[in-house]
Amino acid sequence: MDPLAPLPASGAEFDPLAPLPASGAEFDLVIVGSGSGNSIPDDRFADRSIAIIDQGVYGGAYGGTCLNIGCIPTKMFVYPADVADEARDGARLGVDSSVAGTRWPDIRDRVFSRIDPISAGGLRYRVQDCPNITVFQQHATFLAPEDGVHRLQLADGTVVSGRQVVIAAGSRPVIPPVIADSNVTFHTNDDIMRLPELPGHVVIVGSGYIAAEFAHVFSGLGSTVTVLARGPRLLRAQDDTISERFTEVATSRWDVRLNTEAVAARDVGAGVEVELTDGSTVAADVLLVATGRRPNGDRLGVEAAGIELDGGGRVPVDEHQRTPVRGIYALGDVSSHHLLKHVANHEARVVQANLLADWDSPTATSDHRFVPGAVFTRPQVASVGLTEVQAREAGLDVAVTVQNYGDVAYGWAMEDTEGLCKLIADRSTGLLVGAHLIGYQASALIQSVITAMSFSIPVKDFARGQYWIHPALPELIENALLGLDL
Ligand SMILES: Cc1cc2nc3c(=O)[nH]c(=O)nc-3n(C[C@H](O)[C@H](O)[C@H](O)COP(=O)(O)OP(=O)(O)OC[C@H]3O[C@@H](n4cnc5c(N)ncnc54)[C@H](O)[C@@H]3O)c2cc1C
Repeated sequence: MDPLAPLPASGAEFDPLAPLPASGAEFDLVIVGSGSGNSIPDDRFADRSIAIIDQGVYGGAYGGTCLNIGCIPTKMFVYPADVADEARDGARLGVDSSVAGTRWPDIRDRVFSRIDPISAGGLRYRVQDCPNITVFQQHATFLAPEDGVHRLQLADGTVVSGRQVVIAAGSRPVIPPVIADSNVTFHTNDDIMRLPELPGHVVIVGSGYIAAEFAHVFSGLGSTVTVLARGPRLLRAQDDTISERFTEVATSRWDVRLNTEAVAARDVGAGVEVELTDGSTVAADVLLVATGRRPNGDRLGVEAAGIELDGGGRVPVDEHQRTPVRGIYALGDVSSHHLLKHVANHEARVVQANLLADWDSPTATSDHRFVPGAVFTRPQVASVGLTEVQAREAGLDVAVTVQNYGDVAYGWAMEDTEGLCKLIADRSTGLLVGAHLIGYQASALIQSVITAMSFSIPVKDFARGQYWIHPALPELIENALLGLDL
């Protein structure tokens, strides 16, 4: 199905936001969450009756976080920000380029004129073209099961039940109380990308990857950016070497305030003012809160179904994505330690296979050995596996090497002074246990390392058992591998 295809001329008129008929029916399968959960029903489920329940994100949109308010739109903003930054950076290479301006409304409309129809098309497909599927666009909470049948109550009181349930309810932004309780006007990733105009000055509370990506977007497109970080560095979940380098680079580009917190925030005129722990204030046009995310299990009343959330508020699952309650599976942000779309997709495939098998004889197992992630800033950051600290804490006999972009031929071409690749290997096995990159296209460069780790290719074979294109940037990886003292 092409989600962008126009609606067929014949057939019922379809309004994606119109309320769907309420029903108290029992289904074979109930899926809560239309993000990664929406990908579960395929042809193999054609003979099962399925309910998909989703309250919608940003104004009721179908399809979850990644499509509507996460990975995809952010990267569609990141790319023009990259282009503008590159143009500003040309002079040091002898290219006298500059940015005459950026057109936020055009960029925004380009992004959402592509995304919104995909979201609406996905809903339309489920409603119109999948006769075995009923979509409920409401908030759901669990009720106690009856006779082994799990039950969820929708906001309008409808009860939807099924013997199999998939919880794929995602996560939401954490809002610090000082901001939540202040009545100040603030934005999150839910709505910041829909601003009518590019703000002159954005103050961002947070120091993780979402804060960093938006800092890059706004500064690249021409806003002044202030980042407020509680700790001594940005991207503190990364390996220390990467986090330190990123903080240095960020500090040279944005107004980065470290070791500080907002203690008060208020609207002032058309803008905001944020008061910090040291008594200083930051005035800006727009306040963006990006202080982490929490799983949505607490709003699902899972206890009624017999599920206790873990210490992190996650729905607990085993390696087959089974919760402790027979018949209920969970996947993605609501249950995972990795709040990443490729992990949610992987787990959805595991759930899909296990739904087609017996609860007691699952056929698929999640693989969380080497989960990579990237931060789409300039420079990019990408990582997989253990940090150096984690590897040492695990008691491994580690070999560590750091290779600068600036010391390989393509890095010379770029006159790169920021990028590096850090590899960590276990001397006892000769295998990589971690890789951490900061620099141009780090998110793409790291993929060969992910392959080597996933398929247990020894460092020596990985380095010398293949050609590395000269003088391409992957020579960075080759040289780093050769630099490991194994
Ligand atoms: C700004 C941002 C950028 C990101 N960038 C990246 C990236 O570059 N790469 C990457 O891998 N990941 C990225 N992520 C993370 C990624 O978006 C998530 O890990 C992924 O979308 C999670 O998918 P999910 O299926 O678990 O949940 P979601 O896609 O969030 O789906 C959950 C759905 O459940 C619905 N729901 C929740 N509770 C209820 C309820 N009680 N009743 C009814 N419906 C309910 C919600 O409306 C939602 O549609 C980003 C996230 C953000 C916020």
